[in-house]
This record gives sequence, structure tokens and C-alpha cells, in this order.
Amino acid sequence: MLSETRYAISRGPVYSGGMDTLFHGVLGAAACSNVGLPGALSKRGCDRRWFAEWTLWAAFFFGVFPDIASLGIHFATNFFAGNGVRWTGIPDFVFFLYRVTHSLLGIALGYSLLVLWKRALWLPALAWPLHVAVDLPTHGDGVFRTPIFWPFSSAGFVGWSWWQHPRLFYSAWVFAIGLWSVSAIFRAARVRRCSSASGSRAE
Ligand SMILES: [Zn+2]
Repeated sequence: MLSETRYAISRGPVYSGGMDTLFHGVLGAAACSNVGLPGALSKRGCDRRWFAEWTLWAAFFFGVFPDIASLGIHFATNFFAGNGVRWTGIPDFVFFLYRVTHSLLGIALGYSLLVLWKRALWLPALAWPLHVAVDLPTHGDGVFRTPIFWPFSSAGFVGWSWWQHPRLFYSAWVFAIGLWSVSAIFRAARVRRCSSASGSRAE
């Protein structure tokens, strides 16, 4: 039985579920796209138009996907029904989707199918397991504890719920922004090397 009060979450004005999902997107894009750290560390490419890089948007999508494809459905239907955003009355099928998108089995199946479909997705699709790896220590006991071994076992890690620990929430954002800053520095250095190399070729 899922009691409504168990997941009644006290949330502050700033750190809300939406900001958490956005965080997963920003971190996923920083860690799993060619604009983020993997691209910044690679030696290939001199493209300055970062927004035209498809892996950026794909990694952002896979970063938010596990929550959007489960809880997002509940919030969207409530929103369009004019009920506002509610953490209560979450239907069982939404919890089922939450287990699928937050378990090793769901990730293994989903990731394999994606890479079989398009090999180039191997990098941006890693934002999905990264999302779940971040959820593991940042979700405490309760219905939102990460169901990592579903459907085989209910065992899992009891973490520190980010919605009860604002410092954890803000530190995570500082980390993601730091990762972006480091990526931007590496990227700027590479673009400079590229333009000076092409400049000396033109002479
Ligand atoms: Zn999640």
C-alpha cells in the first residue's frame, strides 16, 4: 500500500521537483555530450556553435527522461486538468514506470535498444544511468527510494533525500555548474588552438 502521507514532501520555494529534474538534464549534458566534458577533452572538432551539437540536447533529454517518463506524466495530466502540481494521488502505473526507468533492468534494456537503433547514442544515452546513479544516494527511504534491483529485489540504498537536505541540493548545482565551467575552459582552449592552426596554414 502506498500511503499518500509517505510521499507528502515538504519543499522549499527554490528546491522543488522541477529544479531537481532540470539538474539531471544539466548534469547529463555536461557529463555525456560533445559540448560537455567528453567533447572538451577530445582532440577532434573545432566547432564553435555549441547549440548546433545534437548530443547536447540528446544528453539533456536522457538526463531528464527517467522522471519525465514517469512522474512527469502525473504532473502533466494534473496540470492540464487544472489541478496544479500535486505530489498526492500518484497512480500505480506511474510508479510502475518510475521502477522501469530507475532500475538496472530497465536501463540495460532501454540503453541496449537505443544503441542498437543508433550507435551514436551511446554517449548521450549515458545520461540516463547517470541520473539513476545520482538518485541512489540522494533519495532516502520511502516510495521514491531508487528501485535499483526491481523487479528481483526490493533491496537498495537508503540515501539522504535531497528535498530534506537543501545543502545537498545546492552542492549538486554547484558541482554541475563547475563541470560546465571546466568544460568551457577546455573547449575555449581547443577552439583557440584550432584557429591559430588554421591561421598559420593560411599564411
Ligand atoms: Zn529520478
